[in-house]
Amino acid sequence: MSAERAGPPVRVTGVTTLPDRRLLLVHAHPDDESIGTGATMAHYAAAGAHVTLVTCTLGEEGEIHVPELTQLCAAEADQLGGYRIGELAAACAALGVTDHRFLGGAGRYRDSGMMGLATNDHPRAFWRADLDEAARHLLEVIREVRPQVVITYDPNGFYGHPDHIQAHRVAMRGVELAAAEGIAPDKVYWTAMPRSVLDAGLEAFTESSDNPFAGIDDVDELPFGTPDAQIAARIDATEQHAGKEAAMRAHATQIPANSWLYSIAGNFGAEFMGVEYFTLAVGAKGPGAGPYGWEDDLFAGLGLDGPDRAPVAAAGLR
Ligand SMILES: [Zn+2]
Repeated sequence: MSAERAGPPVRVTGVTTLPDRRLLLVHAHPDDESIGTGATMAHYAAAGAHVTLVTCTLGEEGEIHVPELTQLCAAEADQLGGYRIGELAAACAALGVTDHRFLGGAGRYRDSGMMGLATNDHPRAFWRADLDEAARHLLEVIREVRPQVVITYDPNGFYGHPDHIQAHRVAMRGVELAAAEGIAPDKVYWTAMPRSVLDAGLEAFTESSDNPFAGIDDVDELPFGTPDAQIAARIDATEQHAGKEAAMRAHATQIPANSWLYSIAGNFGAEFMGVEYFTLAVGAKGPGAGPYGWEDDLFAGLGLDGPDRAPVAAAGLR
């Protein structure tokens, strides 16, 4: 961090020493953290970095895959959001992540449901949230933990869900507000899936009876997929594949126990669960390897791995 960065003094409510490396993830619903970035979260938590997860909604509009819990749904008891707080807590425990918050507090923003549904217009729908107000909630977290690295989605929310698009906007606006105070994170990454990995998956599953790509002939038909040359980082956290799978299984209302996600994991082993990819939206790419110079560490190039660096004082954790 440059000492010359301008801005008003940062409000500090108590001083706690945090680890040198601090990673902040902004996700839309409980389960997105585990499916999209669970291995990376577990990898950095196990390595002693401080990992903070901010989840923007409770996922009230999710489908329920546990028969005895279907009456929790939005149209009936409308208790799914509260239930999913417990699922998320169990998932974080499986990932070794201890710092988890909901944006603006649990229940501040509601799951907007899929694009175009009436749930988009609920008064608390995250899709309708005032961007600056929501970003200020995130700014409070940034002030407190001072992450060098932020992870969120690309402008299409990876696959177009309104809450994912909004999470992207709020994260990027929050980073802008932090920059205005002189506490900008050094890097912002967006989750991504390389075209080559999708091509290989399409190829591998053509003959499968349990084909997640059924009806898809070409990767171009998918709502995601990034040219390999645009990928910035490949995080190999295969050592954490079991933790990621356990975290996903903690979201039992959302991911059926017989999901293709688990059968793919069985076929492809640890790599499917344990390797995650990112594009770099803000900051300078560090040193990497391979034809496209992919980083193998999100903190690459930040100079945080020297042994003599003094601990960083940041605002107290709740
Ligand atoms: Zn989601």
